[in-house]
Amino acid sequence: MEQQSALQDLKNLLVNAPSLLSVYDTLEPMLLKLFKAQRMSIFQRRMQHQDLVARFKTGNEVQEIKVPISPHSIAGYVALSQIPLIINDPYSSDELSAIHPRLKFADKFDKHSTFRTQNLICIPILNAGVLMGIMQIINKNDGAFQSADLALANKVAQTLGNKFRYELGGTSQPFDYLVHRKVIDEPTLNKFVQANPEHELLVQRLMTEKRIPEDEMGIALSVHYQVPYIGYKPDRFRLYQSNSKLNLSYLKRNFVAVVTDSTDRPTVLMAQPSNASLLMEIESALGIESYGISVALPNTILQYLGEANGGGVGPGAMDEILDEIGTSGQEADEQLDDMSDDAPAVVRLVSRILHDAKRLEASDIHIDAEKNAPTRVRMRIDGVCRDITQVPASHHNAVIARIKIMSNLNIAEKRLPQDGKLAFKLSGQVIEVRVATIPTVAGEGVVMRILSTGGALPMGKMNLSPANQQTILRMIKKPHGILLVVGPTGSGKTTTLHAVLGHINTPDKKIWTAEDPVEITQPGLQQVQVSPRIGFTFASALRAFLRADPDIILIGEMRDKETAHAGIEASLTGHLVFSTLHTNSAPETITRLLDLGIDPVNFTDACIGILAQRLVRTLCQNCKEATLATDTDMDFIKRQYGADYLPELKLVSPLMLHKPKGCEICGNTGYKGRTGVHELLSMTPALRSLVYKTAPVSQLKTQAMHDGMRTLIQDSILKVIKGDTDIAQIQMLASV
Ligand SMILES: [Zn+2]
Repeated sequence: MEQQSALQDLKNLLVNAPSLLSVYDTLEPMLLKLFKAQRMSIFQRRMQHQDLVARFKTGNEVQEIKVPISPHSIAGYVALSQIPLIINDPYSSDELSAIHPRLKFADKFDKHSTFRTQNLICIPILNAGVLMGIMQIINKNDGAFQSADLALANKVAQTLGNKFRYELGGTSQPFDYLVHRKVIDEPTLNKFVQANPEHELLVQRLMTEKRIPEDEMGIALSVHYQVPYIGYKPDRFRLYQSNSKLNLSYLKRNFVAVVTDSTDRPTVLMAQPSNASLLMEIESALGIESYGISVALPNTILQYLGEANGGGVGPGAMDEILDEIGTSGQEADEQLDDMSDDAPAVVRLVSRILHDAKRLEASDIHIDAEKNAPTRVRMRIDGVCRDITQVPASHHNAVIARIKIMSNLNIAEKRLPQDGKLAFKLSGQVIEVRVATIPTVAGEGVVMRILSTGGALPMGKMNLSPANQQTILRMIKKPHGILLVVGPTGSGKTTTLHAVLGHINTPDKKIWTAEDPVEITQPGLQQVQVSPRIGFTFASALRAFLRADPDIILIGEMRDKETAHAGIEASLTGHLVFSTLHTNSAPETITRLLDLGIDPVNFTDACIGILAQRLVRTLCQNCKEATLATDTDMDFIKRQYGADYLPELKLVSPLMLHKPKGCEICGNTGYKGRTGVHELLSMTPALRSLVYKTAPVSQLKTQAMHDGMRTLIQDSILKVIKGDTDIAQIQMLASV
């Protein structure tokens, strides 16, 4: 209670004071009484001087103590690390060196007086995650400072932080200055912030998409982070040359560069200067005594690092890194867990694996622990897992730890599966990766899914048969109705829907999409990421869209009756709706929806068409070989295409097909890339009357084929004859 009212008194005192210094005489005894301590000092950060200054009055004179942000003093170190400290004996070098090897106690004030510091509590004053200053409370009257004092100090520091931000003219969010300057409005900014959780990407996208000038953005960040802004001035700043342990890919990934001007004093350029742990790593790797901290734009940092001028140095070839690991891998087994993640070889190895995955167009990376054997690194390319490399078992844990750190996962938790996300940069493009760790009896494994970035596939590249292409173009011209794309996970439904949306995405149409996750982005679309965990489902997104004057709506998936029902209702009230279902064929989709309890009349009125699809591997264009169709091949084609429809194939005899061979381009597999095979059902009057009668799937299928639908296997056979793929790849689609 006493504490509560003291804290309230403090707040009132600061709110009404023009500055901290003006009420220091009242504040000091108040805080000393609150902490039951003898002395205190409050340091304020100075943006242009990159140090801290404590001001206090003795008599009428204002005294100043300046302290650099470095381990050379306790206050400087707390400012650097942003971690509060309780020091029981500042004269104990053991106690200090256990905190940081170079931590010193600046004892000159003790020396110049009879006062002796016995113990102290030192706490960072933060506001919105940005360092504003430091508070030190010295010599507890009754023994040592306890954790209760720390909790109290935190509350005081919060109040001081608010005051300091006001005094220093800081902002509570990195882009507030832009809103204040009316460079961007708040709702637009919030939309960007929500869509881009990663700071660096957000800065970049705001500048390119909202045309915010570099300097304007630089000032905004400088005001927020309370450090100077440095732009790209290669004639003034160059990279700081030192025999540091800083590895280029580490710097690029963390968006940090150390530069220097003619004075040779290093300046650490950071995209997010509030990242104290990163600053600590840099500081300790450089081992420098004095340096500045400045904010720079992410691209500027990459420019200084040489990314913009011809790519710079990559992480190194896989073989070289593995060689290096081979020679350094003799550490004792007990040390494995301690092996630091920034052992450069491991860092580069993980970075190499990610780069290779992107280069090989892999969709997934599997890092599997093996008992008493090297770790296997496999990648799923065109839907098939391929062995890529092996990592010595001695480095398994370090590689997993590295990936966990990059994805913000708990390194210590090894018994439970974890999910996270990481992003890396490849030739200027940010690539997002979903990460899942899975504990196995052999050790922890990791599976990474590379989220496809970039825009939509043009419809012309979908490899639709000419008949299907015509039909679908006719379908999507309709002003309302529902079009479903169906197939199992990984059958390319999202790609197809975005190709279709890309085709009809014109400025006169308002298009809303709800997706999980948003993998493909298109300018002009309003794309929303649903989050069922917080109750933001496809159904609730759809309800929100209907209030937002849409023309076209994409609902990522009809997982339940509620969503299916709402989607059909929306299409009946004048909107064009697209969605997906996990069904195997187009006709089966109809019975599935009726089983869910959807009204057959509503459904047939709404439904424009159903497209079922699969992906099949395509032959490598570089090495595929022509070959005569065997009798077995001919039998397969005739049986699967069906006697009734065979004439339309106009088969020649002998028939030329293609088979895989293998070359360097396709990794000796004979296949490269995948293509879609399709089954497109149109809702015709004849089919409609069968649906009313709840006819069985087989009858629906026969009628749909009669009305022009070709099945997945028929479409695949067309693609075999075209030379896109071979019979082996489509056999799993065959009906027995
Ligand atoms: Zn090939």
